[in-house]
Amino acid sequence: MRRRIAAGNWKMNGVSADLREARAIAQAAQGLAVETLLGLPATLIMAARDMSVTLGGQDCHAEPKGAFTGDLSAPMLADAGAQFVIVGHSERRALHGETDAAVAAKARAAQAAGLTAVICIGETEAQYRGGATLEVLAAQLSGSLPAGATAESTIVAYEPVWAIGTGLTPTPDEIQAVHAFIRDRLPDRDIAVLYGGSVSPANAATIFSLADVDGGLVGGASLKAETFIPIMQALEDAR
Ligand code: PEP
Repeated sequence: MRRRIAAGNWKMNGVSADLREARAIAQAAQGLAVETLLGLPATLIMAARDMSVTLGGQDCHAEPKGAFTGDLSAPMLADAGAQFVIVGHSERRALHGETDAAVAAKARAAQAAGLTAVICIGETEAQYRGGATLEVLAAQLSGSLPAGATAESTIVAYEPVWAIGTGLTPTPDEIQAVHAFIRDRLPDRDIAVLYGGSVSPANAATIFSLADVDGGLVGGASLKAETFIPIMQALEDAR
């Protein structure tokens, strides 16, 4: 049985007043068989650590500690209450110049600290239009996944860059074909493969019905309980 996961990524959004949304999401998660993950800003993790939801960070440094002003290490996130960390999000790859090798190093650091690494991959719009999607994903997968990645230590999120925050998504057939392609290249076929990019209450049921989609990594719609809970429920009801 593969894991089924509704994961939220709050990005650089959320102050303590927004913990009421996390609390409502956690309460709804309690009644579901699927896993609910929330990638909060690191400043909120400790305050949410008693909620009944799996908490995570959105990035970590590859080193466990040291002179890296402003950075956070995987052991620090674990100490705050995180159980996973997102690595290689396209915003980090594009805005912070993170390479596949850097992402793999962060994933190894996460796993060494006992965190699940949610490793993001995805093609740009130009690559999609140029028919290079599968080639790009194959390279990102082989470069970003640490050797020995397992279903327990690793989650892969396929997030087409052009679908993030745009309201655009690939067609269901395209999503399924890409997920099957990814699964064929995983060191452990049971690693959960999530789809991310403009998942909403309106499209979640269709996306989650696809055979090789094990859940979603959700940005904007995860910020509010009223939009994230229907997505969690769609995953619960799928297949
Ligand atoms: C994301 O940032 O990981 C994401 C999928 O964002 P959105 O759901 O807002 O497109």
